[in-house]
Amino acid sequence: MNSTETWFVERLQEQGVALSSLQLQQFQTYYELLVEWNEKMNLTGITEREAVYEKHFFDSISLSFFVDLKDVSSIADIGSGAGFPSLPLKICFPHLRVTIVDSLNKRIQFLQHVVEQLGLQDVTCVHGRAEDIARLPAHRDRYELVTARAVARLSGLNELCLPFARRGGVFASMKGADPDEEVQEAKRSIAELKGKLTNVHHLKLPFEQSDRHIIVISKLSDTPAKYPRKAGLPLKQPIV
Ligand code: SAM
Repeated sequence: MNSTETWFVERLQEQGVALSSLQLQQFQTYYELLVEWNEKMNLTGITEREAVYEKHFFDSISLSFFVDLKDVSSIADIGSGAGFPSLPLKICFPHLRVTIVDSLNKRIQFLQHVVEQLGLQDVTCVHGRAEDIARLPAHRDRYELVTARAVARLSGLNELCLPFARRGGVFASMKGADPDEEVQEAKRSIAELKGKLTNVHHLKLPFEQSDRHIIVISKLSDTPAKYPRKAGLPLKQPIV
């Protein structure tokens, strides 16, 4: 193991996430593909190994410190970009059935390639806007867990994400340093989309020590027929 892998394995183990050598190899391959493809398309501004493992891989997996993934079988990751947080979670918790939705087809092609190269099963990559995909019966009110990291402010994001969560499921939104104002602003959209704010968890990244928050919203009942509105509107005119 190199020094990055050593701290990665140890910090995760402290949180009850044990990695096998196969899983470590999958992270290594993912890292190499991310850097390689990043030369031909814009996937991430972070390419140094240590930083990718901390700010992308560890940060993504931190969701599992607060939401017990052993009890979850289906995840939808909205605006996954280069695969965060769902692919690191899938590597650590192989039982998950993952659906990734992103509106940029090039990123979906990258993700499909990563899934094949890592030999991951039960990962479906869907190209489209969340507003349109959430109208399809196969995806609407279906998922036990919906995730989104760095996609939009919560007031608009709720309308992209909550329609995917089934009754009794949760939407976990991964945020940075100070989400209080955003959470306040999002109260109306949470209620309109049949959610209930249940928790705001805080953690610090192990080296950078920067603050992260995970906002957990439970889905109380099915999505009202009028949501999500036409593609573009949720972020342009958020429910506030
Ligand atoms: N979640 C990743 C992360 O944490 O690194 C990527 C974040 S990136 C800033 C936002 C992603 O959301 C982009 O890949 C973009 O294509 C996607 N996106 C933005 N609006 C979307 C929408 N309405 N439906 C689906 N994907 C969307």
